[in-house]
Amino acid sequence: MANATIFDAAVIGGGVVGAAVACGLLGAGLSTCILDEGDVAHRASRGNFALIWVQSKGLGMARYGSWTRASADAWADFAADLRAETGIDVAHQRPGGFSLCLSEEELEKRRGALTRMHNQPGWIPYDWEVLDRPALMREFPDLGPEVVGGLYCPLDGHVNSLRLFRALHAAFKARGGAYFPERPVTSIAPLSAGGFRIETPKGAIEAGKLVLAAGIANARLAPMVGLVAPVRPQRGQILVTEKTAPFLRHPVITVRQTDEGGVMIGDSAEEAGLDERIGLGVLSVMADRAMRMFPRIAALNVVRTWAALRVMSQDGFPIYDRSESAPGAFIATCHSGVTLAAAHERLLAPMIARGALDADMAPFSARRFDVPQAA
Ligand SMILES: Cc1cc2nc3c(=O)[nH]c(=O)nc-3n(C[C@H](O)[C@H](O)[C@H](O)COP(=O)(O)OP(=O)(O)OC[C@H]3O[C@@H](n4cnc5c(N)ncnc54)[C@H](O)[C@@H]3O)c2cc1C
Repeated sequence: MANATIFDAAVIGGGVVGAAVACGLLGAGLSTCILDEGDVAHRASRGNFALIWVQSKGLGMARYGSWTRASADAWADFAADLRAETGIDVAHQRPGGFSLCLSEEELEKRRGALTRMHNQPGWIPYDWEVLDRPALMREFPDLGPEVVGGLYCPLDGHVNSLRLFRALHAAFKARGGAYFPERPVTSIAPLSAGGFRIETPKGAIEAGKLVLAAGIANARLAPMVGLVAPVRPQRGQILVTEKTAPFLRHPVITVRQTDEGGVMIGDSAEEAGLDERIGLGVLSVMADRAMRMFPRIAALNVVRTWAALRVMSQDGFPIYDRSESAPGAFIATCHSGVTLAAAHERLLAPMIARGALDADMAPFSARRFDVPQAA
């Protein structure tokens, strides 16, 4: 590190968000390093469900809908470029995705939410449909008898997210990036001549630009550069079965078959602080719902379960900001970092390299949380 202490840009956090942004900064010609706490950290990027999901994204913020759509649309080229650059196939597929409902009430609730979302001012329309049971049966002939209907969107897809994580780090290295593991950032000081001095227990580095991409740790780091990141951990649990012959061509929001054959079942949402333990109660509810959707799952052995912490803002939407007091400092944090990886590398990073976020990114600013309390 002694010879490499000055960079055009430093990204704090080497999860899927930081790695994607860092790859994009290198692509824009900036010498870039990643300072990463490493595997001891809470890491959403190693524990997610790997959907590239559009259909339910954006109720309450139309811009989030178009941002998600833009990323999902960019994903095929993004995956192809990662493969060409690193040799890693991240198994991107976009066959369209389903949400399946086990009661009329559930179906009505989902239909209502999507209708409201698509009727928002500023919404850019795309195809989606509500399907009754006979229509679903054509796609899933061995559907469980309790499934009453569902929703379909052709824009949804999925990926192998652990391979994505590896591919991003391989691409970062191939583009000449400097990755520093086990460097938890302890303090950041803006320099009077511009840029930042970033302290870690293994030494300091200096960088002209800074991107905070440290997941839930952004809440603590952001005030060091005049930003705010009101994000909290939200636990999600996942279970995976043994490999089985392909039977599920489309991802369903809570059940998907991976490219390797295992069936992933997820994902719950619990407010449990930093507790990353699994709970049999939640796992059994998830498994029960999956078996009611696809009874053949009952015959499969579960081979792995885990819990991981989502990075959740107060309204669930991403936070992208540039500091007003230290203008070279940016923040990027979101709860759908797999879906948004293509946008982070191809759209967000070039803005950061240029020194300012585009005007249409304003809805993502954390200033949206500065609403005066009602009297
Ligand atoms: C159960 C579950 C299911 C999910 N399913 C999906 C899905 O289907 N589709 C989807 O798009 N998204 C999904 N997500 C969300 C997705 O995984 C996250 O949005 C994404 O991983 C966030 O990445 P990140 O890089 O911001 O954070 P993290 O992966 O948490 O990484 C943060 C990084 O910051 C580093 N760090 C922390 N503190 C410091 C410090 N002080 N100094 C230096 N480095 C530091 C850590 O070492 C870590 O590498 C899911 C998440 C969970 C938990």
